[in-house]
Amino acid sequence: MIDWTNIDTVLLDMDGTLLDLNFDNHFWKEFVPLKFAEQQGISVDLAKQQLQPRFKSMEGKLEWYCLDYWSNSLQLDIAGLKAEIAGLIAVLPHVMEFLEKLRQSPRKVLLVTNAHQDSLGLKMEKTCLQPFFDAIVSSHDLGLPKEHPEFWPLLQQQIGFTKQNTLMIDDSLAVLNAANEFGIGYLCAVSKPDSKLPDRQIAEYPAIADFRELMSGL
Ligand SMILES: [Mg+2]
Repeated sequence: MIDWTNIDTVLLDMDGTLLDLNFDNHFWKEFVPLKFAEQQGISVDLAKQQLQPRFKSMEGKLEWYCLDYWSNSLQLDIAGLKAEIAGLIAVLPHVMEFLEKLRQSPRKVLLVTNAHQDSLGLKMEKTCLQPFFDAIVSSHDLGLPKEHPEFWPLLQQQIGFTKQNTLMIDDSLAVLNAANEFGIGYLCAVSKPDSKLPDRQIAEYPAIADFRELMSGL
């Protein structure tokens, strides 16, 4: 599926690619509305109705991924709430085998995420994935989300990679589109980012349901 001989750099997304998006989906769709409802003295259903458009309006913006933004905006300790349900943080199936194989190859492996530093720290602590990466980049350090076309030249300046020899794997089509426009040579989507939801049909890019599909030739 992928010609590994041509690839010297691998850019990996975190949530929904390496880690089960069920944690984030549960957190934002169930746990935050529950806590917001308690704080406001309203029903959980009403809390969900009120929060949904607020979440929707921030999609694709850096603030969407910013725990401080939501802590201020909702007057809830978002980082603390994440820690409360951190037991749900999980690595997707076959990710460890893939990362181990990648680590044994001479390729440069980078985690490139829109996750806020607090969220990233909590997830690395829970999953112990950190040693698999040559570097970890949070888009918050660059000031733009991965969906933004200007993010990619900034990332290239910071870490240095050859576009046509780089593979990027991400569950977000908006992010893949931005990377595609920039000219990243190999793009791969994830069709099952949330273990609790059915496989998605993805037509725009080659897609994997799990990492076994990328293992041959690596
Ligand atoms: Mg993702």
